[in-house]
Amino acid sequence: KENPVDFSEKPHELSKIKKVIGVVSGKGGVGKSLVTSLMAVTMNRRGYKTAILDADITGPSIPKAFGINTKAMPSELGLFPIASKTDIEIMSINLLLENETDPVIWRGPIIANTVKQFWTDVIWGNVDYMFIDMPPGTGDVPLTVFQSLPVDGIIIVTSPQELVSMIVSKAVKMAEVMHIPVIGVVENMSYFECPDCGKKHQIFGESHIEEVAKEHGIDLIAKMPIDTSLAGACDKGMIELFDGTWLDHIADTLEMNGEK
Ligand code: ADP
Repeated sequence: KENPVDFSEKPHELSKIKKVIGVVSGKGGVGKSLVTSLMAVTMNRRGYKTAILDADITGPSIPKAFGINTKAMPSELGLFPIASKTDIEIMSINLLLENETDPVIWRGPIIANTVKQFWTDVIWGNVDYMFIDMPPGTGDVPLTVFQSLPVDGIIIVTSPQELVSMIVSKAVKMAEVMHIPVIGVVENMSYFECPDCGKKHQIFGESHIEEVAKEHGIDLIAKMPIDTSLAGACDKGMIELFDGTWLDHIADTLEMNGEK
């Protein structure tokens, strides 16, 4: 690894993880966890052994989207992730907290350390693609988390409500500092397609994602609509049933990169 950060933490001896993809955003609530979940579901459907490491410690929403209600219990061997209905391996702070509505009010170093332990102490087994739901933003905590995991590529999630240009350039700079390639940008809540007339409405105004991505040399853009069935699937813990194709070309790229 060319990572300038001294990354020496090894995963558990029973874990063999091939590709690690970080999903980042400028702030919370733009759909980063949703994109992480959908990418994992997509790669899992394509026959790859897939895992999600939920590094969004203060806003962990992965277990809920997958409808996981059991807790991860340490065994003699160590800590195993919990498998979803379609066999995606998941580890999240909410699988360890006794009461998942308890707020996590830890400071940065403890958060970073917890994420590091999810990498080093969890027995993941063989994983083709691990998706990491990163803490939002480009501040101290996401940066430290980044530096403690050997991320192979990142996917940036934005929404048209944000200062997209600033967020993308910050994320790109963070990735550059660590020599991590940016795989693509997902513009979430990009539009709403009227179920009656089929017209696409740009609720949050015109999108500038093409120009912004181009400025930063990112070719791969995906646009996801505001979709009430997606929100409903997350709420009901049924995200594995989603049937959109919006992220397929990002999945194609991951597959192509994997073959090289
Ligand atoms: P983040 O991880 O960035 O904080 P989430 O993925 O948890 O954001 O999304 C925040 C909320 O918005 C969730 O309730 C999610 O279901 C909803 N949501 C996100 N993207 C969409 C979308 N494209 N259509 C409908 N609801 C969405």
